[in-house]
Amino acid sequence: MQIKITFLGAARNVTGSRYLIKANGFKFLVDCGLYQERALKYRDWTSFPFPPYDIDAVLLTHAHLDHCGYLPKLVKEGFNNPIYCTGATADITEVMLMDAAHLQMQDAENKKRRHDRDGRRGAHPELPLYTIEDAEACLKHLTPIPYKQTVKLSKGISFTFYDAGHVLGAAMIEVRVEQNGEERILLFSGDIGRQNKPILNDPTIFDTADYVLTESTYGDRSLDPPENMYQKLVDIVNSTVEAGGNIVIPSFALERYQDVLYYLSKALDAKKIKPIQVLLDSPMACDITKIFRRHADLFDEEMKGLLTQRKSPFSFSGLKCMTSIGDSKAINKLKEPSIILAGSGMCNGGRIKYHLISNITRPESTILFVGYQAVDTLGRQITDGAREVRILGQNYPVKAKIVKLNGFSSHADKDELLVWISSLKRPPRQVFVVHGEESAANTYADSIRKTKGWNVTVPNYLDEFELD
Ligand SMILES: [Zn+2]
Repeated sequence: MQIKITFLGAARNVTGSRYLIKANGFKFLVDCGLYQERALKYRDWTSFPFPPYDIDAVLLTHAHLDHCGYLPKLVKEGFNNPIYCTGATADITEVMLMDAAHLQMQDAENKKRRHDRDGRRGAHPELPLYTIEDAEACLKHLTPIPYKQTVKLSKGISFTFYDAGHVLGAAMIEVRVEQNGEERILLFSGDIGRQNKPILNDPTIFDTADYVLTESTYGDRSLDPPENMYQKLVDIVNSTVEAGGNIVIPSFALERYQDVLYYLSKALDAKKIKPIQVLLDSPMACDITKIFRRHADLFDEEMKGLLTQRKSPFSFSGLKCMTSIGDSKAINKLKEPSIILAGSGMCNGGRIKYHLISNITRPESTILFVGYQAVDTLGRQITDGAREVRILGQNYPVKAKIVKLNGFSSHADKDELLVWISSLKRPPRQVFVVHGEESAANTYADSIRKTKGWNVTVPNYLDEFELD
């Protein structure tokens, strides 16, 4: 067999997922994501290690930017072939890429203004990686394929998407390559979801694969089970409302908002919390929630049951989408306790900053963190226990209650990862552990070796392997 794989990202780090596969004279990428770690962002600016016009297809696992965010640049540089993904991923990718392009244009402009004022030049050009026009041009290549439908890519190469249970539309990809009457199965885990997460199905498990690429984001950590989040959220809402404060939830637009809404609507329905205003202060999250409504066929059985009883978690009394800046500003004048969800999830930009300014100095309010907080972000400073924080150029003492819940994660934890890979009935020829910080990837690789005795590799950036 002659199959080659090159690791162009998410190799001993979390972001920038890009894997290049060459077989039967055909070249394709699995994922084409942006780098988000500060120290690795330069890789988005260096040229691709191959000409993009030479790539025959891209298979996209899901719509998070660290998996799809580099696509407009690939198209801008000459890629002109299909990008296969599920229908829901295509819809969400559109929202994500347009937003990313908009932010990059804004950042480049601000940076230029700052540099002009200070009379200096930075290490990188003050240009966006891509513009809104570039993002639009890329969207034309998205080719939706339903789960479980096998597509022939080229002679002797086919692929099938399976539900990953990570975010709406997310897929694991099984690629089959045939050469001289022999077949190899390559399994790309994409990001693996959690067991018993609301709204979505559990991740698909597989009997057999010759080569597996598995993520390892939480390869060294246990997380709270998702089902514990309900009671914790109920307690936080009740105690904060009793104190007369607001619950401010910095949140990512995709999945986290919808999960929080799911639990809130369940609590309201069961009368575990009193009727309360829930304000969704993010046009992007409102758009994505609409996409959720359009793809109800992808929901798990419990969620489908709620919809047939007309109990949609995405439209309940008290829930409001705040789209204009005027709506957003009006929130701060409200007298009644409210639940406010806004982005960005790590508080380093977006409308959340204004809600933090209005609430972080109030002991009666709660700031509830439901997502990962990277180093160097305002969210990380707050969750690390800073007594005072600087927001939009001014210092504020932290007096609000700060709560962090890790059970809202969309990623499998270390035990769930091991359960997923252990479903394989015979040892794969090789397992590649990717998409994790070095220590998480190594810890997970060791636990597979120890419990299964399988051949496991933690590849480096730009490593190339022959798959025989
Ligand atoms: Zn993801």
